[in-house]
Amino acid sequence: MKAPTGALRLEAQAETQSMNSKTDNVVIIGGGPAGSALGCYLSKAGIKNTIYEAANHPRAHVGESMVMSSVQVFDEIGFLPVLEREGFVKKHGASWHPPVSKGEADIAFSEFPSPHVKQDYTYHVDRQKFDLLMLKHAESLGTKVYQGVSATKVLFDENNYACGVRMRFAEQEIDVPARLVVDASGRQTLLGKQLKVKKNDPIFDQFAVHAWFENVDKSKKASSEYIHIYFLPVERGWAWQIPITHEITSMGIVAEKAVFKGGRLQPGEYFQKYVDSNPDLAHAMRNAKRVNDFKLEGDYSYKMDTFAGNGFVLIGDAARFVDPIFSSGVSVALFSAKYSAERIKYAFENNDFSEAALKPYEVKLRSGTEIWYEFIRLYYKLLPAFTHFIKSKKHRIEVLRLLQGEVFDRRDVPVLDAMRKFIHTVETTPGHMFAGVLSDISID
Ligand SMILES: Cc1cc2nc3c(=O)[nH]c(=O)nc-3n(C[C@H](O)[C@H](O)[C@H](O)COP(=O)(O)OP(=O)(O)OC[C@H]3O[C@@H](n4cnc5c(N)ncnc54)[C@H](O)[C@@H]3O)c2cc1C
Repeated sequence: MKAPTGALRLEAQAETQSMNSKTDNVVIIGGGPAGSALGCYLSKAGIKNTIYEAANHPRAHVGESMVMSSVQVFDEIGFLPVLEREGFVKKHGASWHPPVSKGEADIAFSEFPSPHVKQDYTYHVDRQKFDLLMLKHAESLGTKVYQGVSATKVLFDENNYACGVRMRFAEQEIDVPARLVVDASGRQTLLGKQLKVKKNDPIFDQFAVHAWFENVDKSKKASSEYIHIYFLPVERGWAWQIPITHEITSMGIVAEKAVFKGGRLQPGEYFQKYVDSNPDLAHAMRNAKRVNDFKLEGDYSYKMDTFAGNGFVLIGDAARFVDPIFSSGVSVALFSAKYSAERIKYAFENNDFSEAALKPYEVKLRSGTEIWYEFIRLYYKLLPAFTHFIKSKKHRIEVLRLLQGEVFDRRDVPVLDAMRKFIHTVETTPGHMFAGVLSDISID
């Protein structure tokens, strides 16, 4: 992988001179899962592309548990053998723990084989390692990669087409021409901010405090390699337990930002307070030893008004981020890469890089992420009655389909209607057993 040296300058100058500011290169800003997966798809299609990554991998990142649908993309880009070779923890299912020490609800992915995936498990990953491997995989397929190079601005020509990116490295700036610009900068949302199309979510303002631990007791659990979600007795509060290796477990506490701010506690105190609030969680953590610093994440629910325009697309978190409750983020990033690659291929074949040519990507991604969003909104409304819903014979398989990430290319999702109906019944039935547990989120 190339260091940010004079090579970048020479290459950019050569591109500019030889093509008179016209280049056939796709410039991808950001080498997270979205950028790397897109690099893979484009390189496989024979389309020249370069990733410029601000950090130097390996770099830490939140987002360690994958949903099943991710496996489809890993398979298509030839990354599955790498995941298997590196021995990432296999994720066979998920388990939810209500605030009292009974009524755990589990799902196993083998119950409903995903039509596009040939295995009944996905992975939990150490993102430092995983992201580096994905970036290297893109490079092995033909993507050029520069690390330690920050994009500062997307450049537009006189016809208002994106035509390049201003990069900064070693305190110098250089303009790199592009036939098409892809913003895969994650929650930095470089282009969304530049175009002023970023809208924060009106409902969700969640906040996470997380760290890695040793000695988390998994003996009480249906499976030590499931993801475990614990409900906390606070508005939209939950905790995650994700095995990163057989020794290390990622633990995170999530609640509304106001809960964290209002408590005026140090991150460690805040974390412990909510660990103690769920008996199953407290049991799992009773001998746990923290092995790295607490990290804080907030302000992470938003969407862009547009994901595609003349000469540009936004993918992954740079386009839309909902909420991590169902571990959907990396899957959305991967599918945004897949679907944008299809339209970028079309653009090259037809020499048409207009918004109209790229827009079908946005339509597809938006409809899938809206299904995730609606599922998450209803989930928060129902929480903690959600376990009751997972256990329902009638709806279980449909809930499972959603939890596996089957949100794209779907016309209707009957289970969402059923959830709305259930909520309505609870709200309109005097003395309903779940009346006291519905959240105050509006679902109108
Ligand atoms: C609390 C929390 C928990 C989560 N848990 C999960 C989970 O369990 N499972 C899951 O699937 N998802 C989870 N997510 C979501 C997940 O982290 C993201 O959806 C995923 O990382 C998106 O990938 P991406 O490639 O779009 O962005 P990123 O992974 O953020 O990658 C973007 C890259 O762009 C680089 N970059 C940024 N700005 C620039 C610039 N100006 N120039 C060049 N490079 C730049 C960054 O350094 C970074 O490497 C969670 C998120 C949060 C907040």
